[in-house]
Amino acid sequence: MLRLLVDYKRDLADGDGYQSFEGVVRVYYADELKAEHSAGFKKLDFPSMIRNLHLTAKQVGEEFRVGAEDTAIVFRRMDRPELDPFTMDAATRDLIVHDPEKAIEAMSVPDVRVVVGRPQKPLSNLRVGAETMANAFGEKVALRRLRGLAECPGCGKWRPVKLNIDEHYALHCECFPNMPLPVERVDDQWLLTKVEHLLATDLPRFFLPREWNSFEPWIHREKLEELLTQFNKESADVR
Ligand SMILES: [Zn+2]
Repeated sequence: MLRLLVDYKRDLADGDGYQSFEGVVRVYYADELKAEHSAGFKKLDFPSMIRNLHLTAKQVGEEFRVGAEDTAIVFRRMDRPELDPFTMDAATRDLIVHDPEKAIEAMSVPDVRVVVGRPQKPLSNLRVGAETMANAFGEKVALRRLRGLAECPGCGKWRPVKLNIDEHYALHCECFPNMPLPVERVDDQWLLTKVEHLLATDLPRFFLPREWNSFEPWIHREKLEELLTQFNKESADVR
């Protein structure tokens, strides 16, 4: 197992919205630190940090071939110790190693998914991979996942996710007495569900503490409906 561990923090904007990142990339083979490949970085913007990571992966060499199962890139926020380390999904990991410019693009929020319902402000630069998606509002919204459980958008409690007879995943909770909530797996931290599935329930409000939800943690059904309508309209305008 080859692992790149990126410990980083970001320096808050100095006036013009610019943020810089600093930290250290550590390389581990089978949990043993390879100090010769490990290096710190400072005062990099987000794209430069990803390019820097790309160079480290290149130096480490052969093991980082496309689709390799036994490699991982893990990000850990030093300034947010309450957040769990984030393991990059395989596709983004491969992009970082082989096509950093595409990786940078993929890790930025596409315009269509820009937060609706608030004035547009620059999105925080480092929202990695699935986390970017999780904080964007769209026809689907993200639910936190913890192993076989997910945070129920009906009550905020951890509830089991099970494979249905039709091979689709669904969240089971007393909030959805008639039909478990259909969900899609994204990675080991996030699931997605369609907003329309939520609106199809009788629930008056939903537990969705996400960046787009200025009423967090709860959002009333009317407001959610409004956001979806606005999102659909804005997506149509872009197309
Ligand atoms: Zn529930």
